[in-house]
Amino acid sequence: MTDLTHIDTWLFDLDNTLYPIESEVMTLVSGRMTDFMERVTGLPREEARAIQKRYYHEHGTTLAGLMANNHGIDPEDFLTAVHDVSLDALTPDPALTAGLERLPGRRLVFTNGSATHAERVLDRLGIAHVFEDIFHIAAAGYIPKPSPVTFGMMIARHGVTAAGSAFFEDSEHNLAPAAALGMTTVLVGAHAAESTASFVHHRARHLAEFLNDIRVKETDA
Ligand SMILES: [Mg+2]
Repeated sequence: MTDLTHIDTWLFDLDNTLYPIESEVMTLVSGRMTDFMERVTGLPREEARAIQKRYYHEHGTTLAGLMANNHGIDPEDFLTAVHDVSLDALTPDPALTAGLERLPGRRLVFTNGSATHAERVLDRLGIAHVFEDIFHIAAAGYIPKPSPVTFGMMIARHGVTAAGSAFFEDSEHNLAPAAALGMTTVLVGAHAAESTASFVHHRARHLAEFLNDIRVKETDA
C-alpha cells in the first residue's frame, strides 16, 4: 500500500487530472484557442494552430507565448474566450469525491487555467466543497507551471510546506519542480505507468482508485 501518512497538503492540477482526458474538454478549449489565434494573427487556421502549438511548447501555455510575443492581448480576454466551452461531458464521480474527502488536511487546486474555469469544472464535478482554494493563472501573474517562480508564489500565497505536500498532475514536466522542492509527486492518467522520470514518485492510472487505496494520516474527525 502506498504510504502518504506524511502528507497534510494535497495539491491538484485541474484539467485532465481531476477529470479524465477522455472527456475531451481540453480538445474543446484547444479549438477555442485556435479561434483566438486566428483572430489575433489574421492567419489561416492551420498556420494559427501551428503558432498556438509552438507557443505552448516554448512558453508552457499558449497565453504565455502570446504575452511574450507582444500580440497586445488582454490575458483575461483570452481566458474568457478559450474557457467558454461546454462541460456537459463532465459528471460527478462518487469514487473521486470519496477519495478526496478522505484526505486529511487541506486540498488546493493548482492550475494554469483561470479561476472561473476551475470553479465551473469543480461545480460540474460536485467537488468544489473539498477544496480550500484555487491557485490560478492570474494569481501566478500569468506565469505558468512548471516555472519555479510560480511554485514559489503558490507556496507563499498558501503557506505550503513542501515536505508535507503531494502534487497530482497529468503533465509529467510540471512535476519536476515539485520534486525538486521536496514535494511528493503523483503522475495521473493513461500514460502514467510508462513514465520513468526520477521526479515522478507515484503513478496513478485512475485518480479515484489511487486516492481510495493510499494510506493516509489518521485523524480524529
Ligand atoms: Mg492538466
